[in-house]
Amino acid sequence: MSMIDISSLQLEQLKEYITGLGAKPFVAGQIYRWLHQRGAQSFDEMTDISKSLREKLSQQRYITGLSIRKKQVSKDGTIKYLYQLSDGNCIETVLMRYQHGNSICVSSQVGCRMGCTFCASTQHGKVRDLAAGEILRQVYATEKDIGERVSNIVMMGIGEPLDNFDNAVAFIKIISSPQGKNISQRNISLSTCGIVPRIYQLAQLKLGITLSISLHATTTEKRKVTMPITNAYSVEELMQACRDYTKTTNRRISFEYSMIKGVNDTDEDAQRLARLLKGMISHVNLIPINPVDGSPYTQSDDAVIRAFQKKLQNLHVNATIRRRLGQDISAACGQLRNENR
Ligand code: SF4
Repeated sequence: MSMIDISSLQLEQLKEYITGLGAKPFVAGQIYRWLHQRGAQSFDEMTDISKSLREKLSQQRYITGLSIRKKQVSKDGTIKYLYQLSDGNCIETVLMRYQHGNSICVSSQVGCRMGCTFCASTQHGKVRDLAAGEILRQVYATEKDIGERVSNIVMMGIGEPLDNFDNAVAFIKIISSPQGKNISQRNISLSTCGIVPRIYQLAQLKLGITLSISLHATTTEKRKVTMPITNAYSVEELMQACRDYTKTTNRRISFEYSMIKGVNDTDEDAQRLARLLKGMISHVNLIPINPVDGSPYTQSDDAVIRAFQKKLQNLHVNATIRRRLGQDISAACGQLRNENR
């Protein structure tokens, strides 16, 4: 039997497995709490589980682990971790401190195959998907390191979560379960470059999370230049999927729009963006881009970003400018991993 990471199992799956070993269903709840509330890293720590069951578990299952390979602390309190997985691959996790609490940005894959030209995470392609347990461990390990709770999660680190659909959904279900960390789904957002069939699939699950779309351009032609996913799904098809998502889930979508000098920051872009979002419950997050080594793009001037926001607001589009955190610690996603390959 091949070894399976036990922390990637949802409670129902764990119950099925544990009862299959002859234990009572409530024992699954005990193990689940050890894993997801107390962050146990070995079966030996589970002192209220019988020794014979712990032995069986350690023969058949393992608990995935992470270690800190590198840690950078910004003067604004942002912490960027380079975590090493059990197979030696590395991923990034970023902890951001806000007045409303700690927010964590987690990775969902080792590398990314989506090829967005402004993104450091994709420069060496995708190595593999992360298991749900490996996404969870980023939260647990970071909480342990800072000695504080995390209250908000953004799935916006290395990788495309909808390209790792089942594991991303399992992560959301486990981290939000009352027997786990019990982080409200309303405090979780999942960011995608726009894999259209997966957006329809996600809508059917009716999760309480916020879906965030990395849009960055307002026409199919322009978006193709920076986001190759647009060769498969046009902006119109993407917006149709977004309309379906808001209708099915009644949840507002957040649109991420990186402000790139001379590429997508004109008045016409603002007008087109407003037209695309007309009648949809949405919010636009304008992002001053972090510089990426080897990328030809530079950030729009502050005055241009503010004017773009004003234009959107005048066209009745809800728009904010994202605060820049961790600028002094190579915070552009994927950069730290690239530097340590
Ligand atoms: S922006 Fe997201 S989807 Fe695009 S290459 Fe980077 S990690 Fe992948």
